[in-house]
Order: sequence, then structure tokens, then C-alpha cells
Amino acid sequence: MAISIVQVALPIAVHGLFDYILPSNMLTDQQANTQHLTGCRVRVPFGSQVKIGVIVANGSSDVAGKPLKSIIELIDQTPLFDPSVLQTLLWAGRYYHHPLGEVFNTALPTALAQGKTFNLLHSYWQVNQQGNPSFAAELIKLNRAPQQKKAFAIMQLHDNTPAPESALLQMGITRPQLAALEQRGLIVHCSQAVATPNTPVELRELPLNANPEQHAAISHIQSNLQHYKAYLLYGLTGSGKTEVYLQAMQSVLEAGKQVLILVPEIGLTPQTIARFSARFNSPIYTLHSQMTNFQRFKTWEQCHTGHARIIIGTRSAVFAPLPKLGMVIVDEEHDLSFKQQDSFRYHARELAMYRAMVQKIPIVLGTATPSLEIQHLANQGKVHTLALNTRAGAAHLNTMHLLDMRGQPRQGGMLASVVNTIRETLKRKEKVLVFLNRRGYAPILLCESCGWQVDCPRCDAKLTYHTSPQVYLHCHHCLYKCAPPPSCLNCQSTVFNPLGLGTARVEETLHQLFPSTALIRVDRDTTKTASNWDSLYETLAQTDAAILLGTQMLAKGHHFPDITLVVILDADGGFYSSDYRAAERSAQLILQVAGRAGRGNKKGQVLIQTWQPDNPLLQTLVVQGYAAFSELLLLERKETGLPPFRFSALIRAESQVQNKAEEFLNEAAAMIAPYVQPPAVEQWGPVPAPMVKKGGIYRAHLLLFSSDRNTLHNLIQTVWQPILNHPSRRGLRVSIDIDPQSIA
Ligand code: ADP
Ligand code: ZN
Ligand code: ZN
Repeated sequence: MAISIVQVALPIAVHGLFDYILPSNMLTDQQANTQHLTGCRVRVPFGSQVKIGVIVANGSSDVAGKPLKSIIELIDQTPLFDPSVLQTLLWAGRYYHHPLGEVFNTALPTALAQGKTFNLLHSYWQVNQQGNPSFAAELIKLNRAPQQKKAFAIMQLHDNTPAPESALLQMGITRPQLAALEQRGLIVHCSQAVATPNTPVELRELPLNANPEQHAAISHIQSNLQHYKAYLLYGLTGSGKTEVYLQAMQSVLEAGKQVLILVPEIGLTPQTIARFSARFNSPIYTLHSQMTNFQRFKTWEQCHTGHARIIIGTRSAVFAPLPKLGMVIVDEEHDLSFKQQDSFRYHARELAMYRAMVQKIPIVLGTATPSLEIQHLANQGKVHTLALNTRAGAAHLNTMHLLDMRGQPRQGGMLASVVNTIRETLKRKEKVLVFLNRRGYAPILLCESCGWQVDCPRCDAKLTYHTSPQVYLHCHHCLYKCAPPPSCLNCQSTVFNPLGLGTARVEETLHQLFPSTALIRVDRDTTKTASNWDSLYETLAQTDAAILLGTQMLAKGHHFPDITLVVILDADGGFYSSDYRAAERSAQLILQVAGRAGRGNKKGQVLIQTWQPDNPLLQTLVVQGYAAFSELLLLERKETGLPPFRFSALIRAESQVQNKAEEFLNEAAAMIAPYVQPPAVEQWGPVPAPMVKKGGIYRAHLLLFSSDRNTLHNLIQTVWQPILNHPSRRGLRVSIDIDPQSIA
């Protein structure tokens, strides 16, 4: 018996592949060439267990003399992963230095990781007149089973052609009846491969009349459908990016191909899906974390057969099997939710770009506020910019004003002038959005007599003071909850005062100021379910004047008509943070919120309160706009040698024991030291994390920078496994984050 050896990736936290024997009797003739088996799942013995892995290569990985075990079962007859996904996953494992088996495990819906197989066959039933000598006798016996007789009569309507089971069930025949008729030899079951229906694309509505900028963008994308090209679709909120997606993807769908649309976690709203289904009759499927295992499995099946034509999903949808993928769209490309922040820390946008390159198709990255990474690539000409500088339709550009808070009279955190503007806006029967990215009543509870503040016992953080439904203290980092202390732990005083502003406190003030105006607060405490959103929309639709107050939940995905005034209560936080990415994120958020105004035909106004009106970044953002701001920030990053001008990797260590994490990273640093040669590779730290203690765990960081991606990756390739194997690592959690997006 001829044997072949294959390399299998297994879902375990160890780098490297495992060799197994693939007995030839498991193969069909077609599969005899094992090339066709990469991307197929197998069941294999591993120690005393049985594991499910994925074949990624054939031939031995060359561990001489080791006796090999045989594969127990070849689960897939054809590869589960199409070549472009497979190649992307292999690359991702190398790039993120993550064990390949765990990479596959992250990509696969649970049911598939557990070995479930697609049902790629349709069931049919057919009358068995020719095949059964006692057919006539059985037919007579049916007189004693009237229900079966009735079912059989319906089957006879189909003459002798196979009828799809689903159609029979719809006509009222039950599965037990079919089974009984089969038992009698009156009907036979047959199955047929699911044909990919090639439904012609029909438009349910006419495309809008594209304005000149939209037209230029659409025709540019459409003239480059046969090869890889990355586009930055750079347009303000409301500039008509979605319309560009819709028109650009039309010809891809018409060519019988699939389109993958990645959206941020929070962007996958019914409104988003409705925009696509209102335009195309093509089957639309969604993929996101709220789905059940079974739903995810079923959707993968539809993707795999090619039945799903438009796939809208969050981060992990980038792994969906799409044999006929023709275009990728990443909406709100800058959004942080595209980066997975634990275990396999991939960036879906990066994977999507790689996949598009392998598949030789265009990828469109849409945003009003490009990430500095993409802006940098655009400046280098590696990404082609398509700009939409005017608002689509009748909408106008907003005006933005920076308001100096120093020494000015305020009411509940709002400048008197801001309160006046809100009042005037409401008088005109228009709507106002007030933004504060902090929920709860106040971020600090302070002892009046000695200044002591209530800390979280598990984090280096203050507890937030909440007042509803009852008074309690809450840690927004580890979710610790408790009642306020009866007296100060420092001076025993019983007089406490909430310090600072949260949305609940602003709500109180706004309610006092405008008691008869509809006021809706949106944050994680008030708005948890889709029905909360539904009633919000209803209230907004029923009233003219209204105030919408909330956190960043208001900033993304949702569209509120008729808002003409946006107030940003605190613009400062991110501009003075220790995380070098904070300014970028704050600016993106400010513009995102600002973009909620003036989407109808009335001009919008944005008021931004600040304690630092002279901050050059904030000034540039408000006066000159995001493009100028991002160029200024890029200049800063260039001068300080930060990404995207250098590549970075962050090694994190976490321990329940104080100082242990930092001590371990010192040892790791010693192992890295021989390879660190400034300026080629530079090392920062080890340092305690900005929030050292979080949820009872002590954390430390070691950052590596290099101006050359390969140099950095070769270094990590060399040192990472020895670092993981180091004896003092025991009891610690150690991980590596390539291109870290947050250093908190
Ligand atoms: P974005 O995706 O950039 O936020 P949208 O595509 O949602 O912008 O467009 C904002 C609004 O403008 C939508 O109501 C859309 O229907 C409308 N719109 C877009 N393009 C046009 C156009 N060419 N003519 C008229 N209205 C348009
Ligand atoms: Zn005190
Ligand atoms: Zn905490």
C-alpha cells in the first residue's frame, strides 16, 4: 500500500506542524494527488487524545526516524479553505507569530472546528415504479394508511422525476410519511450536489445619480476589477461612500462573483444591511459574533457553495470561504474593532488586504478619518486615494468651533454659551446631540474633608459613581461593583462628593434646563438591545425638538436624521495620553460624532469644549480638518520613529504576583539583547503597563521597533520560542502583539 505523509496544523498552543501518514485507501482517485488535500480537515491521534487539524502541506517536515501515526479520518473530500484564505492564514500565522493550528481555530466556526461537515447535497424523492417488483401489492396496502396514501398521491403528481424534499415538505408531506413510503419500497431517496444558483443580478432600486467625485471613484474601481488594487475611499460622513460601494460592486455581482464587506463591530446594524438589500436581489448573508454556532455554520455553508453573494460581517468574516470572491470592502477602515485584542491578535484589514492581493481583486477601504497606517501607504502611492470632498445630495458641510472653557461660567459641565445655543436650536424645533465619552454619574467619588478617592481594589483605577437604578460604584476596567463606603477609609468623614462628569450627570442637568424636551440617553447602561434602539428611533421620528445624549455608541453605524447641533463636552482626554495612538483615536471619534450633524438639508454646527484651546493638534483638526491633522501627526510620528514609520511588536507579560511580569521581561530583554542593534532594531522597556494592575493582574510591556519589517520578524522568529520556553515564564501569561493598536 502506497503511503503519503502530510503536515497537519493542530489547535494547540505550540508552534510547528505535525507529520501524519495518510493511508491511500482514504483517498478517492481524484485525491490521489495530495496537493488537492491542503485545506482539508483530518481527525488524528495526538497523545492519548483525538484532535481535529487541517492539512497544510504534503511531504514530511523532516523529523528523521520518528515513527509516524496514521490519520484516523479524512473529514473533508474537498478543501474547506479555498486557496486564497489558506494562503492568507498561513501568512497570518507567520506574520503574527501565532501557532498555525490556533489560527485555523480562530478562523473556523465552532461547529466546523469540532468536525461537522457541510451538507452539500440536496435530498430528492422519486416514485419507485420500475425498481420494485411488489410495487402494485404495496400500493393496495396503502388503502389502510390514508395519510400515506394521500402523500403518495402528491408524489405521483411529480410523474417520475425526483422532487426536492423541501418542496414536498412544503406541500404538507411529513418526514415520517416519506420514511414509511420508502420502507414499503414505493419511493426512493436520491441526492444531488447543490448547484450554485447563478441568479442574475437585479436591481431593486435605481442607482442614485452619482455626483462627479462619486462617478470618478466608481469608474476607477470598475476599470480595475481583474487585479489587486487597494483604494482609500476618503470621504466625510454623508459624502456618499456607501453609494460608491453599491455602484462599484454591481459589476462584480453581475460577473457572478461574491463581495465581502467588513464593517466595525458596532456598524452591523439593520440600517446597514437594509442599504444593500434595498439595492440588490442577490442573497445577502451576515457574519458576526452574536450568531449561534449553528447560524455561523450555515452561513459558511452558503459562502462555501457560492450561494451567498454579498457577505456583510465583522472582523472574523475575513476568514469566510468565498470561492468566487471578486471584491472586498472595508467600511470605517480605521476602526479599532478590526483588531483582535487577545490570543490571535490579527488585524482584519491587514488580512483582507493580503487576501485581496492573493486573489488578485480590488479592495476598497472607506473612511472619513483614515488610520495613519493607510494614510502613510496612500502617501507612498501603495494605496490609491479616491476623495469625496462634498456631501452627497443636498447636505451641507458642518462648521466646527473650539470653545475655551478656562474661566468661563458653566452649568453641569456646559458653557453658558453652549446652553444658549442648545436652547435656540430646540426653539427652532431642531435636534441636538450632546457627546461625552464617559458613562455613569461621575468618574470619581471624593472625600470632602481629606480628598481621598475610592479606588478599585483590583485595578489601578478610580471607581465610577453610578446613581441608577440605585447608588453603586463600578469599575469600568474589570467590572467590579460595590456599594459606596459608609465613611472615608482615610479620615472617617462621611461626606463624599462625586467629582467630574458622566452621561447620567449631564442628563440630570439637561433635564433641569429643558424639562419639557424629549431627552434620550444612549450608553451601555441605558441602551443594550435592538429594541432600545427601535424605541429611540420612534421617539426621534415623533418629535421635532429633542436632545440625544451619549457616549461613542452614538458615533458609529447609526444615522439620526435632523440633528443640526452637536456638542462635544470634553475634547481633551486623548490629546495628552501616554499612548501615542490616543490623539489619532480622539480625532477620529470627534469627527465621527461631528458627522452626525447636518445630514438632512439643514446646515450642521459642531461645538467643541476644551481646556486646551491652543493645543496645535486640536487646533489643526478643528480649523484645517482631518487631512491636515493627520499630516501633522504623521510628521510627529516620523520624528519620533513611531509607526507607521517603524514597525513594532509589543511583548506583554502578566502575573498575579507584583513585579513578576517586569522581572520576566527583563530576562526576555536579555535574550533579545544580542539582536538589538540600534538603529536597525530598538527596544523600549521593559516598563510597567500604563495601568499596572488590572483585574488583580500585574502587567508589564516590552516594545520593539524596527524600520525594516523583515529584520524585526526575523528577530522575533529567533527569540520568541526560547522566550516562551524559559523556565521563569511559568505562571505568567506572555504574549506578542504585532502592530499593537493599543498600549493600555
Ligand atoms: P457615507 O456612506 O459616506 O456616510 P452615504 O452613502 O450614506 O454616505 O450617503 C449619505 C446620504 O446621501 C444618503 O442618504 C444617500 O442616499 C445620499 N446620497 C449619496 N449619494 C447621493 C447622490 N449621488 N445623489 C443624491 N443623494 C445621495
Ligand atoms: Zn477622608
Ligand atoms: Zn477594576
